[in-house]
Amino acid sequence: MNGHTAPGLEASNRRGLFSDVKLAIFGGEPVVPQGRITPWPAAEKKHLDALRGVVDGGRYHRVNHPIVSELEQNLASWTGKWQVRAVGSGTAAIHIELDYVKKRGERVVTAALNWPGAVGPIAISGLKPVFVDVDMNLAGIDQGAATEKFGPDVAAVLITHLFGNNVLVPDARSAARAQGIAVIDDVCQSIGAAKAIVNGAHVDADALALSGNGAKHLGAGELGFVITDDSNLIAHVDSVSLTSSSRNGERIFSPYSQGYNYRPNVFSSSIAKLRVEMLDTQLQIRRDNGRILWEMIRELAGIFPLFNPSDCNQSMLNFPLRIEPEALGFGPGPAARDFVVKSLQAEGVPIWVWLTKPVFEYLPDIRDDWRAADFPNTAQLLDTMFYVSEIAPPNDAEVMKLYAEAFHKVWKALYKLGPKIAGIATSIQRAG
Ligand SMILES: *Cc1c(COP(=O)(O)O)cnc(C)c1O
Repeated sequence: MNGHTAPGLEASNRRGLFSDVKLAIFGGEPVVPQGRITPWPAAEKKHLDALRGVVDGGRYHRVNHPIVSELEQNLASWTGKWQVRAVGSGTAAIHIELDYVKKRGERVVTAALNWPGAVGPIAISGLKPVFVDVDMNLAGIDQGAATEKFGPDVAAVLITHLFGNNVLVPDARSAARAQGIAVIDDVCQSIGAAKAIVNGAHVDADALALSGNGAKHLGAGELGFVITDDSNLIAHVDSVSLTSSSRNGERIFSPYSQGYNYRPNVFSSSIAKLRVEMLDTQLQIRRDNGRILWEMIRELAGIFPLFNPSDCNQSMLNFPLRIEPEALGFGPGPAARDFVVKSLQAEGVPIWVWLTKPVFEYLPDIRDDWRAADFPNTAQLLDTMFYVSEIAPPNDAEVMKLYAEAFHKVWKALYKLGPKIAGIATSIQRAG
């Protein structure tokens, strides 16, 4: 057995270069065997030991619990620059940061391709979102469009980094700075953006918000972080989020607190602390996996990554791709993407459609104020994108080869049958 060939590839070579292989969506054998993939958060025994340590310690929810304080320090030194305060969630971190800067204006400029949890805190802080389109090459805020919206009534620009991409947008940052507009980076999906990623420097921001929830790099349950070099913002965390301050020992019930109780979960912190120790390794494996997979599928027609998988600073939370339907003989709209997603899922590849609408459509209070048609890049991405989710260790190059084989199998069928394949798939599913 040749050690470089995945078992799946050998099997399909025996079947004759995939040519007559029946797609799993048509009843054929799936490429990826069941149980072959380890889903994130990829629990390990040491996580269980850490949880037991918290139980044995008998203190489950102190903001100054030694585990929480060590986690904050370790994460801060990992970033190489910032101070870190742990809070209850990524959403809480964004809320606290917006609350801190809300006196600077009434509005927050952000991208229409966005996560509802990122945008929700704008209204919670009593501010109004102003949406702009995304740059197709970033799947992140279009900095020209953002800058046009800047003015004296703008409190902040909220820069969301999706899927592990880095949204540097230096012109938008300097324009915001020049006008006294706060720059807040939502790096919930891109933990690596807290490091020195701009030619050896850190992003120019007032604050970064990070999530430690189970799906993110720290895979820790419910947890978030305020990241900043502004000591007053660090102090503001307590004034927003503690009804009683136990940070310095004695419990003092503060009359100034807004009482959101955004305390960090100590159990989650104990797992996050372990992950920080291995974070560089985790990120490297995610990047390697993404790059390896892309190298194996890049020759397929009409498929593109949302950001450059060879960028050595990205965080590859998920591997986002998009289809150009016309290159596969399809008309515009989501049909090509939907067929590809269903087919790859049937082959056992962990593929998902992300959101399908601009973020305001998920926010009932403001949805009527905005029209999807005004955000053509956002709409195009939402119609054509999907992502490969399990790209993290312990999944390795052999797993990426299985994913790649499934892509090749589906594309082979697409080349052969063209767009009518989507109709065949639908009628088979109806019959089934
Ligand atoms: C996960 C996420 C959040 C919210 O983080 P939680 O810890 O789940 O509250 C915010 N923004 C983005 C982009 C996210 O992916």
